[in-house]
Amino acid sequence: MTLAIHGGAPVRTAPWPAWPPPVDPAQRELVTEVLESGLWGATQGGSVVADLTAAFARRSGVRHGVAVANATLGLFAALRGLGVGKGDEVIVPAYTFVASATAVLLAGATPVIADVDPVDLHLSPDAVRAALTGRTAALMPVHLAGSPAAMDALNDLATRHGLAVVEDAAQAHGATYKDRPVGGLGDAGVYSFQASKAMTAGEGGLIVCRDESAYERVWSVCNLGRALGGQWYGHPSVGWNLRLTELQAAVLLPWLDRLDDEIDRRNTFCAALGHELAAVPEVAVVPATEGTTRDSRHLLMLRLDAGVDRAFLLEAMAAEGVPLDAGYPPLGTMSALIGEGARVESCPVTAEAAGTVVWVRQSMLMEDPAAAADIAQAFAKVLRHTGIAN
Ligand SMILES: *Cc1c(COP(=O)(O)O)cnc(C)c1O
Repeated sequence: MTLAIHGGAPVRTAPWPAWPPPVDPAQRELVTEVLESGLWGATQGGSVVADLTAAFARRSGVRHGVAVANATLGLFAALRGLGVGKGDEVIVPAYTFVASATAVLLAGATPVIADVDPVDLHLSPDAVRAALTGRTAALMPVHLAGSPAAMDALNDLATRHGLAVVEDAAQAHGATYKDRPVGGLGDAGVYSFQASKAMTAGEGGLIVCRDESAYERVWSVCNLGRALGGQWYGHPSVGWNLRLTELQAAVLLPWLDRLDDEIDRRNTFCAALGHELAAVPEVAVVPATEGTTRDSRHLLMLRLDAGVDRAFLLEAMAAEGVPLDAGYPPLGTMSALIGEGARVESCPVTAEAAGTVVWVRQSMLMEDPAAAADIAQAFAKVLRHTGIAN
């Protein structure tokens, strides 16, 4: 069988589902209602941002939330609201999106880039322990791919050393750890509604907070330093306008009603793909962290055997009609972060994983589970050709 990249017939010609999924009638109705009301901003008396915020807080098992322009700023506001700033260190995983670290820089603190667990690729509690110093002020576990980080061990460390915990839940709307929603497990949790995320309004973010006083400070950071319930032109602290709009919230609020169905759909696809991939020994599904009770499957991470030429594989898979992503380079290799003072711990696991992992996108996971066979078949075809599989 000739590879499609060499002119053969591709395994799959059908397109994969687009992202975002089609607009539903409830979204259309609410967006139109807000549009016609003229109450587009978050400070004009509209109620959709408040409803969205309350719904997310409730779903996260906490009392408070603040909707923001995006999750990068949300992480910044959460850190700042929790008192993290100049002279402080915040431990972030080396295998994550760059914003986890740049949010720390924005808060004036130092990102400390620590290695991930060799099995589940989330922030390693052992690496955190090794990275602690007298200046460590916070941990930022990232619920990568919609799969929860090892929150019990990380929260234990935080409690023992008096650290704040800001969960980067940008990819994990609806995920649970030991039956508790992520985002509500630390002092604050931050979701993203950027275009690639599991719920999107093009851009957007939302912070949930457990503690009332933390909430008041985070709210103030996002509202120009105002005091909650205080005077409009009174600014007792320094803050910024980081607000989400009512129009964005109108896209998002109805989405919450179908989020769980979409997560179920992606989980069904992942189960089918895991089953199909049993026949392709060079490709392994990266397992969820122990304690995961619901993986929200923002992406599926697959790990290739060390000998596989990933760059060739990705090109050949795309030609077969199965486009995959190479994922993140290690944060510690980004000279821009080092130039701003980030401290890089030894990260051998991330170095290895960043070269061997590939991602199956969320839009593909929304496809009929029968299509999982196409992915496995394309892997088998390409790997057999390269002589790694037989
Ligand atoms: C997308 C993402 C962010 C940033 O979210 P924005 O809303 O785009 O600012 C932060 N962390 C992770 C892990 C992300 O995937």
